Amino acid sequence: MSENPSNEKKWRPATVAIHGLKRTPKPYYAVSTPIVHTSNFYFDTATEVYDFMKAKSEGRVVREHEYGRYGNPTQQECERKLAAIEGAERAVLFSTGMSAVILTLMTYMRPDGHIIFTNDCYRQTRDFATNLLSRFGIKVSLVDPTAEAVARAIRPNTNIIFTESPTNPYLRVLDLPAIVEVAKKHNIMTIIDATLATPYNIKPLDMGVDIVIHSATKYLGGHNDLLSGVTLGKHALLNDLYRMQRMIGATPGPVTCFLLERGLKTFAMRMEHHNRAGLSIARMLEAHPKIEKVWYPALESHPDHKVAAAQMNGFGSVITFLVRGGDKETRTFIDSLELFLITPSLGGSESLVTQMSTMSFFDYPEEYRHAIGMVDNLVRIALGLEDADDLIADLKQALDKI
Ligand SMILES: *Cc1c(COP(=O)(O)O)cnc(C)c1O
Repeated sequence: MSENPSNEKKWRPATVAIHGLKRTPKPYYAVSTPIVHTSNFYFDTATEVYDFMKAKSEGRVVREHEYGRYGNPTQQECERKLAAIEGAERAVLFSTGMSAVILTLMTYMRPDGHIIFTNDCYRQTRDFATNLLSRFGIKVSLVDPTAEAVARAIRPNTNIIFTESPTNPYLRVLDLPAIVEVAKKHNIMTIIDATLATPYNIKPLDMGVDIVIHSATKYLGGHNDLLSGVTLGKHALLNDLYRMQRMIGATPGPVTCFLLERGLKTFAMRMEHHNRAGLSIARMLEAHPKIEKVWYPALESHPDHKVAAAQMNGFGSVITFLVRGGDKETRTFIDSLELFLITPSLGGSESLVTQMSTMSFFDYPEEYRHAIGMVDNLVRIALGLEDADDLIADLKQALDKI
């Protein structure tokens, strides 16, 4: 695993997304990254194996690849580029965002430890925290997504603070420098799932956060056609996680890595489009008489607008809102949309829509579902890359149908 070179040339995000920080030689002088579709890598002689193993035991690298679960050239190229985009020393890729989240937590949690999670979080992360970790005896607190609530929850044995920012679906933005300050004082590791922000809109490592995770299924892949996840941070810190990745084997296949690396070439351009469209559509919705309330961090009405404006570069394409009315009106609106596909996920080329109470939280008892804010008229849209005016026209005609 090679060290990531620093961005000495100060290339901007659109350039880094295409070239990384350094050009790597490619077989056959191919311009694109080849899909190296193999499960293992052979040695020419028995002596070569001996030399390889000896070098490895001494911490030297004489060649990179031996077995597919331990790494693949397509995957490695993808990890290099992701690290370059994030400004991280190192990236470790996983088969999904959830395997990145869970294996990162499993690597750094301690049997006597306590982990703080913020509660407006990804459904499966929430279930892992509340249902699974307790089986291992790990103590967990689920607190409101604010720096104050996180600080209040710290116990003597707290060793990890895990947050999302922006959260989902309410797009709460946490004051990361404030959380980092209190975490450092108590020697606590900070991990952020920044899937909704992406490295284009926020750079948590620059604010002192230890580890950043993204579901690459979303904006990084960008085309609703792959599943992957990535964990980023300092080289030495991620050594243990790298060993976990090799052991557990939740590695993405070479085709997925090719698609992801290809998607990254347009990452910066896509984020520019998402940020612009997100802002104009959030404003349109906020002014619309059939909409009761909108959550989008760029809006002054958002509870974390000031924090978001101070630490983010843009606010992406996820917008959450309440349709005026109840379940019936909300379904009429959703069913009248022509361009939005009814499905979870976000960050791809196609615009998506979900009624939160049915999509991700239906199996919770209704009372509890409502208590955590998943009311029947709560809708989340994730804008794709269509023309923003076409999306506005579609949303307006669907609202007119109510
Ligand atoms: C989608 C998502 C995940 C899970 O990622 P998968 O690639 O679907 O496993 C985790 N966190 C957030 C914030 C997400 O949006």
